[in-house]
Amino acid sequence: MIVAANFKTHMTRQGTREYLDELSRFVAARERDDTVMVFPPATALECGSTGVLVGAQNAYATRNGAFTGEIGLEQLEEFEIRTILIGHSERRHVLGESQEDIVHKCNFFKEQGFRIIYCIGEPIEIRESGSDALMEYLERQLEGIDLGYEQLIVAYEPVWAIGTGLTPSTDDILLIHNALKKIVKRPLLYGGSVKPENAREIMALANVDGVLVGGASLNIDDFTSIIQSTR
Ligand code: PEP
Repeated sequence: MIVAANFKTHMTRQGTREYLDELSRFVAARERDDTVMVFPPATALECGSTGVLVGAQNAYATRNGAFTGEIGLEQLEEFEIRTILIGHSERRHVLGESQEDIVHKCNFFKEQGFRIIYCIGEPIEIRESGSDALMEYLERQLEGIDLGYEQLIVAYEPVWAIGTGLTPSTDDILLIHNALKKIVKRPLLYGGSVKPENAREIMALANVDGVLVGGASLNIDDFTSIIQSTR
């Protein structure tokens, strides 16, 4: 299974280094073949560590250039970063990335051979419009994405569940993941308020190939407890 931590705008470089050292020791001692990934802030991308894949939370679709405030391929290559999160709901809804921007970014990093965790998820008003509207919304977020790309991982993260403590019922997660698996033949993660208390139940569901964890990943004990919950 895949267990990924998204630190967002939390943690320093020093804090990330200590965290990754401890996490590497934990992963090495476990003798399981789960994939553990950490997406620290850009200032900590140099903290690579054995047994844990470090990825970028974001980058601009360019090698380099005049894009003030962004980082591009050249900056990622310096730290041998080959994994990237694209389409996270905070990038879509807080930072204003359009679907067009996201598809462009995804295609750019695909051409570079990156492992891509591509996030999709519906806001609450779509959720409340019923399951047909929900699936149509999710399918629109997949338009233009090469779903056959062998380095693609898709994360289903309902916007209303991110950082709120709310989660869909396990029946709902199962239904949506089953429907998504008919379209997406790649690993499918669930994200949205995953914590030690619910991780085992969520990862026991068919067609849930792992989890993407925000808030609960900031505490190493909580994150390692989530890793212990893989089936
Ligand atoms: C996320 O940021 O991808 C996420 C799922 O956050 P949280 O676990 O805090 O809901």
